[in-house]
Amino acid sequence: MNPINVKGTHDILPSDGPYFAYVREIFSQVAQVYGYGYIEPPVLEYTDVFVRSTGESSDIVRKEMYTFDDKGGRSVTMRPEFTAGVIRAMVGSKLYATADLPIKAFYFGPAFRYERPQLGRYRQFYQAGIEAVGADSPYLDAEAVVFAVTALGLMGFHDLKVKVNTLGGQQSRAAYREALKAYFADKLPEMCEDCHTRFELNPLRILDCKVPHDHELGLNAPKMKDYLTEEDEKRFYDILSYLATLGVDYEVDDGLVRGLDYYGGLVFEVHGSTKDGQDIGALLGGGHYDGLLSAFGGPEDIDHGVGFAMGVERLIAILKDQGLSLPENDLDIYLMPMGEKAYENCFFLAQDLRMGGFKVDLPFKSGKLGAYFKKAEKRGAKVALIAGDSEIEHDTIQVKNLQTQEQREVPMAELPATLDELFSVQDDHECGCGCHHDHEEGHCCHDEAEGEHHCCCHHHEE
Ligand code: ATP
Ligand code: MG
Repeated sequence: MNPINVKGTHDILPSDGPYFAYVREIFSQVAQVYGYGYIEPPVLEYTDVFVRSTGESSDIVRKEMYTFDDKGGRSVTMRPEFTAGVIRAMVGSKLYATADLPIKAFYFGPAFRYERPQLGRYRQFYQAGIEAVGADSPYLDAEAVVFAVTALGLMGFHDLKVKVNTLGGQQSRAAYREALKAYFADKLPEMCEDCHTRFELNPLRILDCKVPHDHELGLNAPKMKDYLTEEDEKRFYDILSYLATLGVDYEVDDGLVRGLDYYGGLVFEVHGSTKDGQDIGALLGGGHYDGLLSAFGGPEDIDHGVGFAMGVERLIAILKDQGLSLPENDLDIYLMPMGEKAYENCFFLAQDLRMGGFKVDLPFKSGKLGAYFKKAEKRGAKVALIAGDSEIEHDTIQVKNLQTQEQREVPMAELPATLDELFSVQDDHECGCGCHHDHEEGHCCHDEAEGEHHCCCHHHEE
């Protein structure tokens, strides 16, 4: 059988692992700073969870879901997005009754959509996101945007485009919908099949159409801002003023509508592009929503939320394009046993060293020294420990610093102190700035004159 993965999916290999860990780690830290707790609904939900909340007019529900009957004949769907499942979980566990409101939760995990695979678009991809549910406040809406921008900034993004818009409340949206219908009615015959459905179910979605001709038509369509009630308009401008005070560099894009049915009020997207200008799609999208708690039988009086989701593969593609380079799990120590007896000793020594916190490995069987050095180099090891018959006899071990090539024989009893010394010297070169990746040599500078640590990696540039 050919080792082929399912179309549109991709393998996360060990060389990709550090990038996913990097994004997850920074995202989790920012989430905690903003007062969010972790939530993870199951991948599988009853299909209704998405149909009722993500919405029947959304592309996701109409054509992108992985839906099947389980062996008990229940229709289940692999989550195409998290919000629906997160809200379902909050209502199911009655969190809204016990937790302080708003309930603030963040998530990280795979989502599944049957889409045409292309650059930055997969059928299984990771999303990282947040939901703040059970309170209605323009401050909370603004906080979601500044959370997203802060997380992206700490990951090292620059040149981001933050687009915001408002879809208004129900009354504003109803008026706007009528205006859009009137505008598109005579243009419909030249538009795509999907837009015909959107016209019937939710004409706002037409503005989101990716068919160039239809998109073009959308540019001259009536604008939401001309149909906002005074109250909706005030709320939007309040949010914009908070964002300005928070230093968020945004632009209002009155063509921005989000692809999910539940949005109302603030919507936003962040875009990034590769160095050669390729648009990789939105890095994240989100907004305010009303009515999702009650869709699952939750309370109506607190039925508001705001959230966003980012596409982790797209983030990683741009970070790599910007020059982020993270090493695979590099070893501290590679053990080099010369002979069977030495192999046995090294096998148990490896466990001791690992319990001491060192990243250690050894060959799976005893072999030649030249081959060992090649392996050690491949694994990024900083120190080699070499043991043969003579060392066993004298209860010593050869310690080789692979960076300076210095080698000396050390009594076994002195090995811990020797390693501490070797690794503490190397630690001095770490900048202590709290960034989550190893610095390549020369990347981290130690400004002795100023008596300060500076991190020279480009991720911290303002
Ligand atoms: P798009 O307009 O690109 O289809 P979307 O509006 O469908 O995006 P959301 O539902 O808002 O996307 O999902 C949030 C984020 O998840 C997107 O901004 C994007 O970064 C990412 N994303 C969405 N679909 C995919 C996919 N098929 N493959 C990879 N990432 C995706
Ligand atoms: Mg989509």
